[in-house]
This record gives sequence, structure tokens and C-alpha cells, in this order.
Amino acid sequence: MDIKLYKFLNNTNTKTPKNVLIVGVIHGDEPIGEFLIEKYLKNKTKTLNNNLYFIPRLNFSNKRKNKNNVDINRNFPCKNWELSTFDDDYFGGFKPNSEKETQFIVNLAENIKFDAIITIHTPYKIINFDGANNQNTLPLAKKISEFLNYPIQEDIGYPTPGSMGTYFGIERNIPIITIECDENAEPEALYEKFANLFNYIEKDF
Ligand SMILES: [Zn+2]
Repeated sequence: MDIKLYKFLNNTNTKTPKNVLIVGVIHGDEPIGEFLIEKYLKNKTKTLNNNLYFIPRLNFSNKRKNKNNVDINRNFPCKNWELSTFDDDYFGGFKPNSEKETQFIVNLAENIKFDAIITIHTPYKIINFDGANNQNTLPLAKKISEFLNYPIQEDIGYPTPGSMGTYFGIERNIPIITIECDENAEPEALYEKFANLFNYIEKDF
């Protein structure tokens, strides 16, 4: 399956648009992000003050890792990338940036200077962020926390070498927020919260 990217560009000229990337299903067994983004794209409003880039589904396998058995969220070419064993749940590939999913994001971010990146995971019911040095990161995390009613947690509690958060948030100073949804949440109820969040990102962020 091909990774799909949907672009919606500023059409109001009311301000200098920000570029925001929103990514679902980095882990194949966390499908809620695809549902939330696809539903939003069907219903979305037409007025945009910002430039939004949506990837509903990055990983088309139905398990955590991709079809090559690699955890995309450990495959980013970070300084702290490390080789782990193949059967590890968090196996980050034999080389950093070896996977087409990782390359897709890395290449996209080389072409577009993102002001913020939001990723949608399950199941921890928290808002996690990397790169607290960027003064825009915490305010965005707080906003997202308000919309979704999950607490903010800066450190997820275990090391994440080669993660997207490290690559963008720590090494490139781009605010990156990881939303960890409740996997037992009623999808439609969760969608209502995400629709408000995405509307905010489109218009007011
Ligand atoms: Zn995940």
C-alpha cells in the first residue's frame, strides 16, 4: 500500500501560515489515528489559516512493527539510534532510516519546514512531547491536553532511541507532540474531541 499525504494549504491570507504535519498509525496495531484523520478529512471545513499535511496511515501492517519487522518509531536517523535484536518489540531496523515509512517522513520534512508535528498513538491516555527547548512546544501540548482531556507527560518513562520525537523534537527543535489515545475510547466520542483539535490547528494555532 502507498502512503497517502493530504495537503490543505492556507486560503485566507490573514496571517503567515504555519506548517503542521499530523500522522496516524505509525504502529500498525494502533489504527485509531487513521479513523480520526479520515473522518476529519471527509468533514473538514474549507477555511484554513495554516497549511496542514495529513498522513492517515503510515504503517500498513496490522502489528506494531512494519512488514519488515521494524518499529518505525525506532528507525529515525537520530544520534541515539541503536541496533537491537530482530525479535525485540522495538527493533529499529538493521540501519537507521532503512524503512520506506521513515524515509517518507524524513524526506517530507526536508522539503517542508514544519512548525509542529502531531502523531496519534494508543494506549497510554497521555500527551507526550519532546524538545522542551522550543518555546512553542509546551503551549501546544497544553492546548492538545485541553481538547483531549489527557494529562501531559514529558518523559514517557523509557528510552526511545531512534524515535520520531527525538529526531524532530530534540535534534531538530521542531515541536512534536505524541498523542496517546485511550484504546477503549468510543471512536465517535473521541472523534468529536479531535475534530475540535484539528479545527483549532487549522484556524487558530
Ligand atoms: Zn504507538
